[in-house]
Amino acid sequence: MKKITIAIDGFSSTGKSTLAKQLAKELGYVYVDTGAMYRAVTLFAMQNNFVSETHLDKQGLIDKLSKVQLEFQFNPDLGFAEMYLNGINVENEIRTLEVSRLVSKIAEISQVRSKLVEQQQQMGKNKAIVMDGRDIGTVVFPDAELKIFMTASPETRAKRRYDELLEKGQSVTFADVLQNVKERDHIDTNREDSPLVKADDAIVVDNSALSREEQFELVLNLIKAKLS
Ligand code: C5P
Repeated sequence: MKKITIAIDGFSSTGKSTLAKQLAKELGYVYVDTGAMYRAVTLFAMQNNFVSETHLDKQGLIDKLSKVQLEFQFNPDLGFAEMYLNGINVENEIRTLEVSRLVSKIAEISQVRSKLVEQQQQMGKNKAIVMDGRDIGTVVFPDAELKIFMTASPETRAKRRYDELLEKGQSVTFADVLQNVKERDHIDTNREDSPLVKADDAIVVDNSALSREEQFELVLNLIKAKLS
């Protein structure tokens, strides 16, 4: 059976990871959530006082980057891999609104990006991978056989993220989540290094009005066409 690379990029909270997980499960492929990697570096930066709402010690973080060890470990109970930072499972810590507020500042740093991109390319060298993020189809795997660019209105996306955070027991307001979604869109699309842009050969999926199942079927048909 032919193996391909599937790159899923798009704005925050467009359901990239939900779709990527469904596809990886269906195809028996590896799923990699690159946002989790940027979030884990952000957590490391927070723990070492390199970043807060009011400051960023960019050089301090760059000097300590060699001490950041990231690893995914598959959790059979959950059916996907969880993020480990220096040997510790940080899957819950990296999903807080606090990390979401700081992550785009960290993701702007070129030295952080090149470290993570190298690791991501290594993970995908044997294909049979579904990777989601912001620069997968443009920078990490420019030759990916299938590139999807996901989008939806900011309100739809914020509602999804808000429901998710409430379900996890976090106390947040819808207004804060909406503001965070818009801020990250702005920083992610305007940064100098690897900004969020649609690759020329990516297929746009606007899922504002699609159910998870409809979206899954749509993309699965695109994959089948590539594999046949
Ligand atoms: O996908 P998620 O929302 O978890 O990503 C968190 C942040 O990490 C994004 O807002 C973006 O700033 C950064 N990111 C990135 N490149 C990627 C994946 C995520 O810059 N490939």
